[in-house]
Amino acid sequence: MVELKTPEQIAHMRAAGLVVAEIHRRTAEAAVPGASTKDLDDIAAAVLAERGAKPNFLGYGGFPATICTSVNDVVVHGIPDRTVLASGDILSIDAGAIVNGWHADAAITVLVGEGHGAELVELSRVTEESLWAGIAAMRKGNRLVDVSRAVETYIRRQPLPVSGKYGIVEQYGGHGIGSEMHMDPHLLNYVDRRRGRGPRLVPGMCLAIEPMITLGTPKTHVLADEWTVKSNDGTWSSHWEHSVALTEEGPLVLTAPDGGREKLAALGVTVAPDPLA
Ligand code: MG
Repeated sequence: MVELKTPEQIAHMRAAGLVVAEIHRRTAEAAVPGASTKDLDDIAAAVLAERGAKPNFLGYGGFPATICTSVNDVVVHGIPDRTVLASGDILSIDAGAIVNGWHADAAITVLVGEGHGAELVELSRVTEESLWAGIAAMRKGNRLVDVSRAVETYIRRQPLPVSGKYGIVEQYGGHGIGSEMHMDPHLLNYVDRRRGRGPRLVPGMCLAIEPMITLGTPKTHVLADEWTVKSNDGTWSSHWEHSVALTEEGPLVLTAPDGGREKLAALGVTVAPDPLA
């Protein structure tokens, strides 16, 4: 069963989403060469405390930190630690918050310092744009698979990187979100014809859409710490995510400060009014 939210519940999720956006603003600013990933985790914990929000990652299945920090060939679920960031690194910061019992979850990719090759800059760009293509497909009457297809189609239409291919990570994907962080339905970032078309998208549905793209293989493995996910071929990766509510008036990107207005306007989609504006 997919949990459908009332407008009031979506307003709570929007409040949580704005806390996540603030975590991203502050941690991205601090993600400079010489900072450790633990420094970023401390900032995230401080933002949650300042806003009276609760962490949803900390303690989730035993996860030991407030955010996930995934550097270079780490695709997702990297644990913040004494790892010091260096110029040229590619870092994803995955963060969440709970407000009044309602969850939000989002991820950004940060190019640390300078000296990134064009290929890495393009990797982050196409991953982010594939997320927005997926969000634009979150329309009443569409099916879940239409979101998966939009993400995959966007990536497949890009000129190939020097590495020869983009890997759309298969073992992880997006998810329903609301009274819990991870809920039905699971959302693939590609079309798997064996799975059917998935549920119809209806107002009240909230999805975390999160493409994870590598410069090589779609295959990943988990390290002995039972969290850190790396690409099997060691290629570097990007991860972008937003939590999105579908309302009677269209989508609202809960974790984007402007609700997704600017990015979706460019794709011909009008966002729903912000319940907290
Ligand atoms: Mg997520």
